[in-house]
Amino acid sequence: MDTAPPHEDPQALLARVFGFDSFRPGQAEVIGAVMAGRNTLAIMPTGGGKSLCYQIPALCLPGLTLVISPLIALMRDQVRALREAGVAAGALTSGNTEEETEDVFRAIDAGALKLLYMAPERLGTTGTIGLLRRARCSLIAVDEAHCVSQWGHDFRPDYLRIGDLRRALGVPLAAFTATADAETRAEIVDRLFDSAPPETFLRGFDRPNIRISFALKDRPRQQVMEFAAARRGQSGIVYCATRARTESLARALEEAGHNARAYHGGMDAAERRMVEELFQREDGLIVVATVAFGMGVDKPDIRWVLQADLPKSIESYYQEIGRAGRDGAPAEALTLYGPDDIRLRRAQVDEGLAPTERKEADHARLNALLGLAEATSCRRQILLGYFGEDSPPCGNCDLCTLPARLFNATTPVRKALSAVLRTGESFGAGHLIDILTGTATPKVRERGHDRLPTFAVGKDLSKARWQAVFRQMMGRDLLRPDPARHGALRMTDAARPVLRGESEVHLREDTVKAERARPAVAA
Ligand code: ADP
Ligand code: ZN
Repeated sequence: MDTAPPHEDPQALLARVFGFDSFRPGQAEVIGAVMAGRNTLAIMPTGGGKSLCYQIPALCLPGLTLVISPLIALMRDQVRALREAGVAAGALTSGNTEEETEDVFRAIDAGALKLLYMAPERLGTTGTIGLLRRARCSLIAVDEAHCVSQWGHDFRPDYLRIGDLRRALGVPLAAFTATADAETRAEIVDRLFDSAPPETFLRGFDRPNIRISFALKDRPRQQVMEFAAARRGQSGIVYCATRARTESLARALEEAGHNARAYHGGMDAAERRMVEELFQREDGLIVVATVAFGMGVDKPDIRWVLQADLPKSIESYYQEIGRAGRDGAPAEALTLYGPDDIRLRRAQVDEGLAPTERKEADHARLNALLGLAEATSCRRQILLGYFGEDSPPCGNCDLCTLPARLFNATTPVRKALSAVLRTGESFGAGHLIDILTGTATPKVRERGHDRLPTFAVGKDLSKARWQAVFRQMMGRDLLRPDPARHGALRMTDAARPVLRGESEVHLREDTVKAERARPAVAA
């Protein structure tokens, strides 16, 4: 097995060892910083090409590069691929045979190994640090670095040992992750780099060929059918929040003459594999799926992703739409959402078993997505901004094409808040809207709500307008459904300045279909 001739630069290695002719966005910069011996944190999307960012430096640097990864199958794949390319690589994981482990030790003792993959558990084994010193380890690369963070879903306690390892070896560390949110990033810096900020790269999140749009869910089934009908013959994914919905939508699409299949975690493994293979192989299949579909999907020519229900966070949103258009050709992403989605997602967070801070973080991730849904300017700019990338308006989202019309909603929002407070934060939007519009339903009369000062103060707006106001207030987290009280709306702290008259609220003049058909409401 060979190592790189000393004169060979990253560009030459890219071509000779890996067979690619150009770097992906961010790769060359990250490689440059790693090779210069700086601590680095690279945040790149899944599939963005993080592995090369440590594999190429490993070939240029003296001694050995240690790669820590939690994914044993992935490590084995990489070791196999590297060996096939003539690179001296090995792995120490619980999946090793005794013989494989001995081979690795022999290669280390001969000073021949360039890349050593290691599962984090191994860091707890006595002798590991000594072994790495003997092997003249000159770089530590940490894949899936977010596993060190307790905020995420993938926390791996053994990752907490990496900081000690770095100090013991005194070598630079390069951390890689696709998770970009601020809390996770702060924890990575804290725990892997002793709070000394590494050189941070955040690149490659933009997927400019995907046109992004959101629409209010007013006739859910019909909206899906119309979208699919206009794209007959293209491969696409419809994501749904529940298994039942994947099945009923798949059936409806089949009845409309599409080639469609349901996919969810309740199906047995063989059935799921069959759908995956069919999707990979055939053109024009529609898979109607829950989040369970995607990890193994590597089809470059998915032309569209339709989220028939709102995902749970901005990260899930990004991951799901990102499955479209991997080939770089034009693709589309449409997300349908409505007040029921907001209630469902809030309830899922609140009813989960996570500790309170985690729930707050999950609400915040949902808020970021709702902010995107209720955006009033370029969606891509907001999305990339969330991940930390600056960008100009994109020209390829629904709001760039058709800017939102806004209205000053400060007065209606204050009326709504007042209705919420005067009824003890105990009711949902329907009842509150009845009060505001002066609709004396039996429930309103029974509770004496027709005698409230807020009764009928919102007569000037139609019920549909009020629904839009409540939905957008929920979207901006001014109101939040209380899970303990069947979705009764509570006012949040964010709403206080509005109630006190210290800040104004501008909402979108939307988009409810029924509303458009109606003549303008007289004051
Ligand atoms: P990540 O770890 O960021 O999810 P990988 O490192 O596994 O991504 O890379 C994803 C895919 O992209 C791999 O198949 C890899 O070979 C390919 N790839 C990486 N860099 C390049 C490049 N510069 N040109 C072409 N393909 C690349
Ligand atoms: Zn845009």
